[in-house]
Amino acid sequence: RAKELNRSSYSYFTREMGVEIRERVRMMHALRSAFEEKRLFIVYQPQIDMRTAKPFGTEALVRWKTEDGELIPPDKFIPIAEYSGLIINIGEWVLRSACFELVLIHELGLRDFRMSVNVSQAQFSHPHFLQSVANALADSGVSPHCLELEITESMAMTDPDFLVSSLEKLKSMGVRISIDDFGTGFSSLSHLQKLNVDKLKIDRAFVNEIAADTNDGSIAKMIVKLSQSLCLEVIAEGVENQEQANSLMAFGCNQAQGYLYSKPLNKLDLYSWLQKHL
Ligand code: C2E
Ligand code: MG
Ligand code: MG
Ligand code: MG
Repeated sequence: RAKELNRSSYSYFTREMGVEIRERVRMMHALRSAFEEKRLFIVYQPQIDMRTAKPFGTEALVRWKTEDGELIPPDKFIPIAEYSGLIINIGEWVLRSACFELVLIHELGLRDFRMSVNVSQAQFSHPHFLQSVANALADSGVSPHCLELEITESMAMTDPDFLVSSLEKLKSMGVRISIDDFGTGFSSLSHLQKLNVDKLKIDRAFVNEIAADTNDGSIAKMIVKLSQSLCLEVIAEGVENQEQANSLMAFGCNQAQGYLYSKPLNKLDLYSWLQKHL
């Protein structure tokens, strides 16, 4: 009886796993074709100085539109890109496109405007990564200090020595580094102190809490304090209402990204948005 049960649950699990793996493989092939057929595109979300309500930069966010016109969110396809290795080419394309776009923005007269680009773990640890950043800078001719690479806190935990030395090399190229989704990755504070980074991005989960009565944004406040004592810049993600913006400014955080100011915009909409908000 027990044996029978085991056997049937075994085949149940393998069948389920088979479905899951097939679905992943299907997504992977679809993603590869989408990339080759240029159905991936990039949107840009403005980053704001809340004191003046003026933009100083933007974050590049990748999008996938299928042939049926369905939009697949990056949270769904970035893991597949990572797992399949496609992230190396996709990430490099995002980085290069963002650099060339920033040059155009600079040519409008916005000389110090910044561009943030997300970098995934697999991309960062790839042997060609530093060279691909150097190439993107050289080929676009963009000022390195206007490019900001966003790494995640969990990356800081995997191979500390490799991370420290890679960050030093990126810093010597002149690019800026921020830690995305800060507060969600459980990295140790003593470790953070050793990393040569410029900025912390408060995860939107902590910004979200600010509105709730149960929690007056104590974690967001703590991250702002931490950034101040480490002499780092700080930006809040996912700011959706004025109440959150006011609390953040009261905590000492003046930079924000969120629907209160703008959702991520395609290239053309970014240009008209910038014209209205400068
Ligand atoms: P992220 O880097 O933390 O980006 C912020 C996410 O929050 C974006 O989701 C953005 O659209 C969303 N967001 C911005 N403001 C608000 C707001 O006020 N309210 C709410 N609810 N959401 C807001 P998105 O574009 O879906 O991207 C999700 C994640 O996918 C990104 O999180 C990033 O980790 C990853 N991702 C996106 N593009 C790339 C890329 O080019 N390369 C890599 N490696 N990862 C990427
Ligand atoms: Mg990001
Ligand atoms: Mg984030
Ligand atoms: Mg995120």
